[in-house]
Amino acid sequence: MSVLNRLDVEPVINAGGPNTKHSGSRPREVAMEAMQEASVSFYNIDEFLIEAGKAVADLIGAPAATITSGASGGLVVQAAAAIARDDPDKISALPNTEGMGSDLIIQKHHRFIYDHLYLTSGGRFKEVGDGVACTPDEVEAAIDENTAGIIHLESPYKSNDLVPLGQLVEIAHGHDLPVLCDAASMLPPRSNLRRFLDQGADLVSFSGGKGIRGPQSTGILTGTPEWVEYARLNNYPNVGIARAQKVSKEEMAGLIAALSEFVETDEEEETKRYTEMMQLVVDQIIEVPGVIVSVIHDRDHYIPHAVITFSPSWRGPDRDEIHRRLMAGSPRIYIANYGPDGQLIVDPLNIQKGELEVVAERVRDVLVKAASGE
Ligand SMILES: *Cc1c(COP(=O)(O)O)cnc(C)c1O
Repeated sequence: MSVLNRLDVEPVINAGGPNTKHSGSRPREVAMEAMQEASVSFYNIDEFLIEAGKAVADLIGAPAATITSGASGGLVVQAAAAIARDDPDKISALPNTEGMGSDLIIQKHHRFIYDHLYLTSGGRFKEVGDGVACTPDEVEAAIDENTAGIIHLESPYKSNDLVPLGQLVEIAHGHDLPVLCDAASMLPPRSNLRRFLDQGADLVSFSGGKGIRGPQSTGILTGTPEWVEYARLNNYPNVGIARAQKVSKEEMAGLIAALSEFVETDEEEETKRYTEMMQLVVDQIIEVPGVIVSVIHDRDHYIPHAVITFSPSWRGPDRDEIHRRLMAGSPRIYIANYGPDGQLIVDPLNIQKGELEVVAERVRDVLVKAASGE
């Protein structure tokens, strides 16, 4: 009996992108092969992790890098590095931060659902700005002897009225503080692998299991050699705050193989293919009354998406009900129901051969029925 036959779980066609609750992304074949290859030998994991970090840095063209358990694990060690740096007593004391500067400055608009991971190491947020805007003076004024670092979020749907990364870096470095950047979902474009480092961020986290399509459990943490070393000292396999964030040698090998294929892929060609896929979805549903749909590829959409919104003439139920009906059908289809304006998003990343037509037809059928009041 196959393992999957033992489990009473029904698969889902994932047309909603690399969402963790829907299994993230499909690991590249080269990643699965590398995991198999790494599984038959033993290594000293400190040595393996250091070498794996060098390989990742080489592929990105970054000064330094290491591997974490997801971008989430990266945020935990970013904060630990900022608070404890390379002091062994401080590293082993976390999350107890007595006698250490542990405030993390964050623009209020950058508060986000994953940000409590920055607090795991014992840090505390000091919010600046009003939730939409923030000025350099407000950031500067918040810095005192308890400040450990400044957080910067790179993600879709962000306001333009914030202190940009380059300016945050200038302020932080004027006080010997690091800028900690979460860019988990910002790949592609591949140019982002270097962009935030080039703007001066000291540590930048990416997910290994989203656009890169490495193992779901992996993350990349790039940065300056000094800060990456602080992060590594606070990370697994050392006994400290991140000891529970294990990444196996198989997963590290899988990530390197996936990253290698990711950076070598022609982005223009990939974008063209995704655009054609999404146009097919758009063509199927564009005439449904009350539905507005188009292919969008901009700073809020990392690859071309078919984005569905509803006009005032829409007579059907809200987007979450449409989402639910697609998940309740057979086969089950997941499309994304996040983002502003009640939108639904079809994402081509995880759509496999033969699935696109099924997705387009089912989305059309569900929308047509909903539009007619069923
Ligand atoms: C996905 C995401 C994370 C978590 O990344 P994992 O690799 O799944 O741990 C953190 N922050 C942001 C902004 C994300 O989009």
